Amino acid sequence: MHRSLVCYACGTETETDRIQRCQCGEPLWYRIDPTPFEWPTTVESMWAFESLLPTAAPSSGIARDAGGTPLHRLPAVDGGDARIYVKNEGLNPTGSFKDRGSAVGVTAALERGAGAIATVSHGNMAMSTAAAAAGTALDCYVFVPADIPEQRLVNIGQYDPTIVRVDGPYGELYERSLALAREFDVEFVNSDSPLRTAGQKTTGLEIARAFATDPDRPEMPDAIVLPVSSGGHASATWKGLWELVKAGAIETIPRLYFVQAAGCAPIARAFDSGAGAVTRLSSDETTETIAYSIANADPPSGTRALTVARETGGGVIAVDDDAIREARDRLAKDGGVSVESASATTLAGVEQLSAAGELAVDEHVVVVATGTGFKERRSNGESVRSDRVSIDDLEGVFSA
Ligand SMILES: *Cc1c(COP(=O)(O)O)cnc(C)c1O
Ligand SMILES: [Zn+2]
Repeated sequence: MHRSLVCYACGTETETDRIQRCQCGEPLWYRIDPTPFEWPTTVESMWAFESLLPTAAPSSGIARDAGGTPLHRLPAVDGGDARIYVKNEGLNPTGSFKDRGSAVGVTAALERGAGAIATVSHGNMAMSTAAAAAGTALDCYVFVPADIPEQRLVNIGQYDPTIVRVDGPYGELYERSLALAREFDVEFVNSDSPLRTAGQKTTGLEIARAFATDPDRPEMPDAIVLPVSSGGHASATWKGLWELVKAGAIETIPRLYFVQAAGCAPIARAFDSGAGAVTRLSSDETTETIAYSIANADPPSGTRALTVARETGGGVIAVDDDAIREARDRLAKDGGVSVESASATTLAGVEQLSAAGELAVDEHVVVVATGTGFKERRSNGESVRSDRVSIDDLEGVFSA
């Protein structure tokens, strides 16, 4: 098994994988030798890329079936901008890409005989971790803010993890959990922990394969657009693509664009200002956004995401809630794909990038629909058009 970790920023290597961050402050990653890699012939799940993962595939459970999501080509969504493909991560077992990281996290924790797995999340990652641990020998702990909305508690609670409601500044929990993980026999699989990024890079591997092995498509898309919060998924996607370059399976990495909600956009701010690192936003620099899944004011892999956006010739932008709502509705109405607001930032981002001349009409652009809309579509005061008829007037529906 590939078990050594490496820091991308300063190159420090460590042979134990019981620590998650380098002394320089940046995230650690599993060191993988990609040279023997060859394209898998089929991709039923993310484990088609087992040779690039730090654990072997589990033999059962939902962790075995994460990933392997479809890439839809949706011409009706193009809207005169680029050619849009949607990587539909909503079709994972709990409706988001987080299942890719949870699958590796749970499998590794079981493999080393840990007693428990844990995560700091009140949304998709909490659901995903609890579901992947269900029915295994692992206890699961989920740390949520004390004032978590009831609906989210119900979504998480159905998988029956130990839910711990924490009073106090929730933003400090990430850092504190790293200390707990060293002290207790608990595998913390947070937003950008090495096991989670190892699993989440498979989004990038699957997108690349869907182009490279399809004779009707270009070798690679021109750009990939992702919503970004902690920066874990974004940097993991880059890492997966970089490994493919090292393996000689692809020539170059597409431009990577990351999108934030205007209400909380620390990485976009750093990109705009030309800063070399992302700095935390204070509470008076953020506002509420409907894209709550990506509202991280202090992203632990923010600087990494910033760096890869620049290196690939992409960028980091912010979109407002009206644009997010409009894009979310367009994906459903014109594409048939229900996504959560956080994921709709990608299509809103494509519009903004197209208007700015960053994306051309003939370019092939993948937007990563990170999570399903099924969990958050409620009435919310939004009106839905419908007609009411008597059962005796059904003909009138078509002849009117
Ligand atoms: C977690 C999440 C993101 C952000 O991913 P990061 O790795 O934290 O940047 C985006 N969209 C959805 C739906 C998510 O659940
Ligand atoms: Zn380092």
